[in-house]
Amino acid sequence: MKENVKSLDFVSTVPSCYGGAVSHKLNKIISRANKKGLEGMISYTISDPYIVKKRNHPDAPIVENKVVDVTVKGEVPKINGWSFIGKLTHDGAGDFVTVLSAPGMKVPTEYRKSTGGCDHCNRARYRKDTFVISKSGKFMEIGRSCLKDFFPTVNIEWIVNYFKYVGDMIDSGEFDDFDSFRGVKVTPTASLDFILMVSNAVIRRDGWMSATAANKIMEKDAEASIIPTSSEISHQLRLLLGFVTPTKYDSIIELTKKDEEIAPKVIDFVRNDMYGDDDYVYNMKNFFSLDEVELRYVPFVASGISAYNRSVEKVIETKAKKAVSNYVGEIGEKITADVEVIGAKYVSSFYGSSLLVRMVDDSGNTFTTFYSGYKFDPEVGDKFTIMGTVKAHKEFKGWKSTMLIRVKVI
Ligand SMILES: [Zn+2]
Repeated sequence: MKENVKSLDFVSTVPSCYGGAVSHKLNKIISRANKKGLEGMISYTISDPYIVKKRNHPDAPIVENKVVDVTVKGEVPKINGWSFIGKLTHDGAGDFVTVLSAPGMKVPTEYRKSTGGCDHCNRARYRKDTFVISKSGKFMEIGRSCLKDFFPTVNIEWIVNYFKYVGDMIDSGEFDDFDSFRGVKVTPTASLDFILMVSNAVIRRDGWMSATAANKIMEKDAEASIIPTSSEISHQLRLLLGFVTPTKYDSIIELTKKDEEIAPKVIDFVRNDMYGDDDYVYNMKNFFSLDEVELRYVPFVASGISAYNRSVEKVIETKAKKAVSNYVGEIGEKITADVEVIGAKYVSSFYGSSLLVRMVDDSGNTFTTFYSGYKFDPEVGDKFTIMGTVKAHKEFKGWKSTMLIRVKVI
C-alpha cells in the first residue's frame, strides 16, 4: 500500500438501460487517465442484468426492474505529491460557498468562508469555482487556470468530472447528466417551501426511510422493495412540477394545510435555531438561505423536517422530565387521561406507515400508542383528553411508559 492513498471501492446499482451510458462515461475517464500517465488508477466491471422487485409506494403493485451492478475500484489521484481535496463553488447559490469534498477527503472548515481567491497567483478576479489541494499537511486554494501548475499532466475538466461523477454515484446513485432535454442540460429546481411541503406530505404517508437503511434492508432481503424516502420526495416533486409524466403506477401525493404550515416553521428553525459546526449544519444553512433549491439537494432539505420535529420534541420533553413517570392503570383496563403530545413520528414498515404518538399527563406519566389511520393526526404540543386500553407497561431507559391501544380523543 502506498502512503496516504485514498482508495475507491464501491458498487452502484443502476437500471440496466443506463449500463451502456455508465460504461461509456467510465471508459472515457479511464482512457483520458491512461493518456495522462495514470494507468490502472481506476477500473470497473458491470454485472449481467438481473431483476429487482420494487414497490413505488405501499399501495402500488410490485414492479420488476432490470438492473446492473457497477463495481468501481481505484485510487484518488496524487500528482507531484499534491492531492485534490475538493471543490468550492461561488455561484451565489446561498450566502456561502458550496463545499464538495472529494471522496474520502475533507475540506478544512475555514474554506467555507472563502471569497474565491487563488493562493498561487493572488490575482483578484471573479471565480465560479476554486479548488482545495494539499501536500504534506499544507492546504492551498487555487483557481482553475492556476491548477495546471500543480497538476500539469491532468486535464482539469477531467478532474472535475471525475469527482463530480464519482461523488454523485456514492451519494445517491443519481446521475444528473440524464436530466437533459434535447441535448441541453437542465438543472431542475423548486422553491424551498414547496420542497418542504412535498417532503412533509411524503413523510406523513410513508414514514422516513434513509437511503442507508433502505440499502441495508435490500442487502439482507433481495425481494424487499424499499425506496429511500428522499427518492420518493424527488419523484413526487418531478411529477407535481411536470418534469416527468406520471405512469399508471404513480399516485400523486396530496398536499394538506398541515404541509403548508410546517414549511415556514422548518425554514425559520434551520435559519435561526440550528447550531453546530459540522458540514451537515453548514450545508443546511447554505441551502436554506435560498428560495429556490436544486432538486439534487432534496435529501438535505427534507432532513430539515425531522431535525425541526426533534427540536420541538426536545423542548417539551425537558418540561415533562421534571416530573416522574409512573405506570397508569392495569393491563387491559380502560383509562382516561389529560395529555400533551410530546412526540408524533411516522414509522415506516413493510405494511405501510403508522404514527407513533408519545404523550405526557400533568403528573409526568408518559403514554405511547401506534396509530395507522388518517383521522387522528396530532402534533407535538397538542393537548387533549384521551381514552384508551392499557396494552402494556414498559420501561425505556429507566423511564416508565404506559402503552395504550384503541386510543380515542374525547
Ligand atoms: Zn491563480
